[in-house]
Amino acid sequence: MSRQRPQYPCASCGKACNKDAIECSACQLWVHRECVPMDKNMMREWDAPGLDFLCRACSFTSDPDPVTYDFAAACKRLQDAANSPSLQYVLSAEHLLLRTYEVKLPPIVASSYPGSTDPQAREILQKFQPVILNPSLCPRRWKLLISSFVKRLLRN
Ligand SMILES: [Zn+2]
Ligand SMILES: [Zn+2]
Repeated sequence: MSRQRPQYPCASCGKACNKDAIECSACQLWVHRECVPMDKNMMREWDAPGLDFLCRACSFTSDPDPVTYDFAAACKRLQDAANSPSLQYVLSAEHLLLRTYEVKLPPIVASSYPGSTDPQAREILQKFQPVILNPSLCPRRWKLLISSFVKRLLRN
């Protein structure tokens, strides 16, 4: 992924992104690292192959009151990747997104999920929580867990 596209305005501050910026894989806008904001170590983690970064606008709910991480959209992304060879990258990216935006997953109480009104999404996230919060679990383990959740969801 090239980071040298100075003609592109930052999705956050609007100034040209000519260095130290990252591209959102959804809206294709670039964002300065400091506008995300994230530190250089986090930026290096995003440099890993196969990881699709999402800007704040593309990963949070558009409802301004309150703006919360869009867990339902995260579930959808994972669901869409469930049977794809890229699932482990999608899972890694989802985990990194939560860390980048310092999103705390809500407690395991369905009624307390602020980011989603979709009961299925809530259910998946409840199952996800111990997994997605534990980066030491290997991608293979993630893949198995996520696949089984998604299959179960599709059966319902
Ligand atoms: Zn900026
Ligand atoms: Zn975006």
